[in-house]
Amino acid sequence: MTATTARAVAARQGTRVELRGVVKEFAGHRALAGVDLALEPGELVALLGPSGCGKTTALRCLAGLEEVSAGSILLGGEDVAAVPTNRRDLGMVFQQYSLFPHMTVAENVEFGLRMRKAGTGERRRRAAEALELVGLGHLGGRYAHQLSGGQQQRVALARALVTRPRVLLLDEPLSALDAQVRVQLREEIRRLQTELGITTLFVTHDQEEALAVADRVAVMRAGVVEQVGTPEELYSTPATAFVAGFVGLSNRLPGHLADGVLTVLGAALAWAGHQTPDGPVTAYVRPEDLGLDEHGPVAGTVVASSFLGAVRRTQVRLDGGVVVVVQHDAADARQSGEGVHLTLRKRAVAIEPREATASA
Ligand code: ATP
Repeated sequence: MTATTARAVAARQGTRVELRGVVKEFAGHRALAGVDLALEPGELVALLGPSGCGKTTALRCLAGLEEVSAGSILLGGEDVAAVPTNRRDLGMVFQQYSLFPHMTVAENVEFGLRMRKAGTGERRRRAAEALELVGLGHLGGRYAHQLSGGQQQRVALARALVTRPRVLLLDEPLSALDAQVRVQLREEIRRLQTELGITTLFVTHDQEEALAVADRVAVMRAGVVEQVGTPEELYSTPATAFVAGFVGLSNRLPGHLADGVLTVLGAALAWAGHQTPDGPVTAYVRPEDLGLDEHGPVAGTVVASSFLGAVRRTQVRLDGGVVVVVQHDAADARQSGEGVHLTLRKRAVAIEPREATASA
């Protein structure tokens, strides 16, 4: 991209986006139960959550493809309730490749400009620039069936960006691609988004993808946003057991909470995290917060141990039957069947009453 194009695009960016108490009901089914979420200008926020939690519905409400049942949507501080999708000034990319099969790549990219009645010369020039931006400047004459899945999604991205939208909405844009292309393209999306400074909402159910691309991640569950934070915040201080279980690996260990003291794996720790009633709890412990230590208070047997380059992950069956994963130094090789002792090195990141885990 030329510096002039980057500036021209960036000049239109930096829009603040806000969903305030958004409720969406479909024939009595409440898909969104009061979503509050603000995206700062130029920020990439990933909307992460399990299937059916309302991610796509939230994105569609933001786009104006669904009418909200209650609450409001603000783009650049303006309530857009009465503004139709084509006037909201958005770029969108969806999971399924959505290129027009009878148009060339260049014609596909020009489409949005044609709708806006841009002249032929301007259309050609801007489509060529947008294709250059996604590294496909040489493929303008091809048709969709002559492109790989990754290339088709790059064209879809060029088509979304060519109108220089205020906001970019991406709904599982990488899900149909194979793993390697997925990682490449997500890095490219992030690079482009940062370069253009365009406020972006990225819907995904893949936590690794969300943590890798986003400035902040909003974790959704059953129609509400359960926590919004940087990837680091979600990982190290999840607000709830659900977030702890959904973001990153964690062990679920039986423990007990009484008067602010959590007892788990033979250790008694002050619990200053989220409010939970006293009694039996499930404690969520990250694999790197456990250690193999011959003097550790809990005995177990190694089930398997995997070398992962910088670290090793070892599964240990505790004497009570629970299997836990311990992440440790790669040089400390362990054999299955070996007797070991475990220690809790750090802390639990979240807890929940034991019945809640049993019924989950
Ligand atoms: P996925 O990751 O599987 O795409 P999601 O988190 O994006 O899931 P949504 O597609 O937003 O979830 O759906 C949220 C809930 O609303 C689901 O229970 C779904 O069945 C329901 N829903 C979505 N669209 C409609 C519709 N048009 N009519 C009725 N119910 C709908």
